[in-house]
Amino acid sequence: MYELCRDADPVTESQRSLLWLRERADCLWKAHFSDVPIGYPLQVSWGIRAHHRFGSISARDEKAVVRLNMLFAFPEVPEYVIDAVLVHEFVHYAHGFGSGLPKRYRHPHRGGVIEKELALRGLLAQDVRADEWLKTCWEEVYRQYRPDLVAKQENTQTRFTPVLPTNGRTLQEIETRLNVLAFRLGSEPYALGWLSATRRHRGMSYFFLKEKTVQLHPLLADKKVPDCVIDLELAYWLTRFQIGANWQKIALRLSEAGFQKTLDDALAYKRNRWTRLLKTQ
Ligand SMILES: [Zn+2]
Repeated sequence: MYELCRDADPVTESQRSLLWLRERADCLWKAHFSDVPIGYPLQVSWGIRAHHRFGSISARDEKAVVRLNMLFAFPEVPEYVIDAVLVHEFVHYAHGFGSGLPKRYRHPHRGGVIEKELALRGLLAQDVRADEWLKTCWEEVYRQYRPDLVAKQENTQTRFTPVLPTNGRTLQEIETRLNVLAFRLGSEPYALGWLSATRRHRGMSYFFLKEKTVQLHPLLADKKVPDCVIDLELAYWLTRFQIGANWQKIALRLSEAGFQKTLDDALAYKRNRWTRLLKTQ
């Protein structure tokens, strides 16, 4: 199934090599996909350094070529994230996309076909975990290795001019709320900052691993955004640092600690008003 061809390996020592990637892929295939019929021979390589594309599979010269974002060669990206992207592409292969096998579905992603297949193969939990990492930590790794591109993007008016309203919430006020909430939840307060937001930032707050800081979207300074929303953002991270990233568990813990109304009101606001507020910027 595997061809280990000797492409020139473009990565340096601290980074994961092409050989490493191919051995990893081989291992995953043998462990989880050995029942899949054989179509085109699979060839795994590093691809371009991309921001939003993590992996791809396509048929080329009767080969199924899987490419992974080359930034995943850096040690900051956990192995389970690489595994999750590889098995995602393997599912496409099994479904007949890029593999020369008969297509099992009309569309590669629609109808949750990937998740269903991953669940059948016992790989869904890893996928969820990788997704969570990509949502919370990827942006920072990307910024570290592509500062040139990030600067370029931000210059083309994607960055919000940091218009903190003059009579809006101050960081000190929010820190005071954080301390109160930390006390109620029996958790430790964390460092807070304002996010230098771009249009890609659709979330209200982000955790930056390197600085160990939770950064708030500057629109949260606007008092038109209700207090319950700020409370939920702050309480979310307080709880998450205590018990992990599982949203169901976080919601349960918050509810038990008397935050059910905050939770309901804030989530209603998030669903209905937040997206509109982002659009007006
Ligand atoms: Zn896909």
